[in-house]
Amino acid sequence: MRVLISNDDGIRAPGLRRLAEVMAERAEVWVVAPDRERSAVSHAISLHAPLRAERLGEREYAVDGTPTDCVYLALNHFLPTPPDVVLSGINRGANLGNDVLYSGTVSAAMEGALFGFPAAAVSLCLPDNHDEAGAAEHHLDTAAELAAAVATSLFERPMPPGVLLNLNVPNRPRAQLGGVKVTRLGYTDWADFVTERADPRNRPYYWIGGDRTGHDEIPDSDNNAVATGFASITPIHYDLTDYRAFAATRALDIPGFTMAPDSLGDEPLPHPVHPRLSR
Ligand code: MN
Repeated sequence: MRVLISNDDGIRAPGLRRLAEVMAERAEVWVVAPDRERSAVSHAISLHAPLRAERLGEREYAVDGTPTDCVYLALNHFLPTPPDVVLSGINRGANLGNDVLYSGTVSAAMEGALFGFPAAAVSLCLPDNHDEAGAAEHHLDTAAELAAAVATSLFERPMPPGVLLNLNVPNRPRAQLGGVKVTRLGYTDWADFVTERADPRNRPYYWIGGDRTGHDEIPDSDNNAVATGFASITPIHYDLTDYRAFAATRALDIPGFTMAPDSLGDEPLPHPVHPRLSR
């Protein structure tokens, strides 16, 4: 098995290092990851700037770009032969519910899935103040061992084209894990927060984003699984079409424009299958 690993915390992040170590026991591991932390860059790709890469080892590159840049370069240039699985992580912190939209970790795995490879993102669910609370123990082994087991499963039983698995693992020893639950994306609550301050030249600047305040109690959601001690595994697809909203969209009856007929119906449709999505 050949595995490509990336992340958004940067190539030196302990989560990526541990995942690479554990994977190396059972696979040929390639690491192509950002040269610094690029968390919350979502699926950004550098189309209008040069990218530089430093080769740090026979199968390891640090790139001065986004997680998506790294996976794109790896799959289309650095790897001499395609990987069997693309993994992203282990992220320092959860990627649950609506947070997946901002996540560079999830996007790196998504890029792998978009190129037709089995892919999984893995995140360790740490307390929100984990940066300050350096003393808190990080149970990276729990997440690494689960990710490795999932990678093996994906290798033997690939998911449908375009699907990636989003894994979120409670920060506890493996023996204290409740098990693994299949989940849907939930909803993570954040305090909406803008701080305005003055820079040294007395111009205002803004700092956005508050603390996590909790999550909605959605049965079988990823948030609920992790909150009750289970590792969460959510299948995600790039197809963001809301198949339940066709009727409401047609009913918009946009003034001055004719709504052309469509054949979408009102039920979920099979995902589009481009040849690049399945290898
Ligand atoms: Mn991150």
